[in-house]
Amino acid sequence: MTQAIANQTKTNATFRALKCKECGAEYELQAMHVCEYCFGPLEVAYDYTALRETVTRESIQKGPHSIWRYRPFLPVATDNPIDVGTGLTPLVRANRLARRLGLKKLYIKNDAVNMPTLSFKDRVVSVALTRARELGFTTVSCASTGNLANSTAAIAAHAGLDCCVFIPADLEAGKVLGTLIYSPTVMAVQGNYDQVNRLCSEVANTYGWGFVNINLRPYYSEGSKTLGYEVAEQLGWELPDHVVAPLASGSLFTKIYKGFQEFTEVGLVEGKHVRFSGAQADGCSPIAQAYRENRDFIKPVKPSTIAKSIAIGNPADGVYALDIARKTNGNIESVSDPEIIEGIKLLAETEGIFTETAGGTTIAVLKKLVEAGKIDPEETTVAYITGNGLKTQEAVQGYAGEPLTIEPKLDSFERALERSRTLERLDWQQVLV
Ligand SMILES: *Cc1c(COP(=O)(O)O)cnc(C)c1O
Ligand SMILES: [Zn+2]
Repeated sequence: MTQAIANQTKTNATFRALKCKECGAEYELQAMHVCEYCFGPLEVAYDYTALRETVTRESIQKGPHSIWRYRPFLPVATDNPIDVGTGLTPLVRANRLARRLGLKKLYIKNDAVNMPTLSFKDRVVSVALTRARELGFTTVSCASTGNLANSTAAIAAHAGLDCCVFIPADLEAGKVLGTLIYSPTVMAVQGNYDQVNRLCSEVANTYGWGFVNINLRPYYSEGSKTLGYEVAEQLGWELPDHVVAPLASGSLFTKIYKGFQEFTEVGLVEGKHVRFSGAQADGCSPIAQAYRENRDFIKPVKPSTIAKSIAIGNPADGVYALDIARKTNGNIESVSDPEIIEGIKLLAETEGIFTETAGGTTIAVLKKLVEAGKIDPEETTVAYITGNGLKTQEAVQGYAGEPLTIEPKLDSFERALERSRTLERLDWQQVLV
């Protein structure tokens, strides 16, 4: 065996099986997501001894400027993954927002500018499609609340894979166009996400397609761990004290946790008790409701909220998210649609970041938790912003003011400026009254 092949075999051995999260049964590394014995979800298991021996901070830093710098922690064997520059998004020190809220050390992990489709879903899809290719799939698919369809269609186009995506028919125009442009087949299902998902499970069983979030789900979901790794690396190889992240299926939330655990396990960071708080919209808050009512099971709900990207009424990883929030002494909160709009505006005004409704939910929940004394001002807190506001313009239409229309003349400009200053003063007087 040549040295190159020997090395490859060695790194390839870091992911070793699919393992049931409930009963621990192990399976070969195939396209499969449910345990045959207990119907529990399957997760990728790694050889942490091998990882500890081979991965260092330096080896990671020498890697590509994308999620693939963490490849030994991701479930793909190839040294040639699909790399469209996904990941390594900015971790922004948010001083103005922190001051507004009464925090001292707040960071925004800004996946509103993730590549190529401006949401965190590019992470999970880059991993899922790389694995799909390894497993021999030529057609890839997904059940999506919007962003996943954008990512799957775009990255499939780049990789030359056939693509058919399923979305609820009532999605925002930007999400629909942002999928169609890559020329996949798009099925707009007259129903909510949970109905889309059920339909896709049937299709996955009969068509032999790689559904990124169904039969490839164990691989797909591992991509979210990079949101944990990056924050640790960007904080100078340290973990934060508190994270706030949105919850749809709950997967992202649980994988940030797994990412922190793994970095600790292999000695890349020092172990730390990180508190995990989750954010949902009132109009789809099955996990927040279970948290409030002290239940350890989820009662499915019918979604009705502007936060469509996180509107999953029957969240697959809900119980695991609940467990993490509880055992880390975090929280799970929900906020109303008007609060979500306020959250979007607050982040835009204070930090210059335009997020979509999921990010508005996260900021509104962050604010609510600080006001309730559930985040300590001294804690180093990271809020995960997972999507871009240009895709959900409907949500803030009419809430962001209007431009001042003027003639192309100096006096027209000066009159308009005077008028706007008067209006600003009146606004202030109203605030003071
Ligand atoms: C899908 C999505 C989430 C949450 O995803 P889960 O892993 O299912 O909890 C959060 N934010 C945005 C913008 C999303 O598209
Ligand atoms: Zn099992």
